Amino acid sequence: MRLGSGARALSGRGTPSMARSLRGYYLRSWRYQRGLIRQAFGCPVRETYGMAEIMAAASECACEMMHLWPEAGLVEILGNAGPAPRGECGQLVCTGLLNADMPLIRYRVGDVAALSRDENGCSRDRRLPHLARIEGRADGVS
Ligand SMILES: [Zn+2]
Repeated sequence: MRLGSGARALSGRGTPSMARSLRGYYLRSWRYQRGLIRQAFGCPVRETYGMAEIMAAASECACEMMHLWPEAGLVEILGNAGPAPRGECGQLVCTGLLNADMPLIRYRVGDVAALSRDENGCSRDRRLPHLARIEGRADGVS
């Protein structure tokens, strides 16, 4: 059972939850699904982005910003003519910093995303760069 449909089934039952937060590993969830999950489990829902190659990672903070993890890798977002301007989507090209056995340099991950126009971090806790959005797979975006 998927988490969203499980949340729908539990919604309204007053199910007690011991979870402090739930993390969605990037199968994109829609706002309504997150609302259902939050309601069913009684805790915030945070998303995390990454890939098997561990080239880059990002996680959502309490301000709902998707902060990149610079220690995991260097992230470039490329448009058709070079680096995509902040706020515009492009292909993620990453250089991993964690895999010494098989280093991948400027590896095209296959996902499309945009850096936030705001170069400052969020107001709460982190000054890390953050993604404005992750659109999904490059071969699935038109
Ligand atoms: Zn933040």
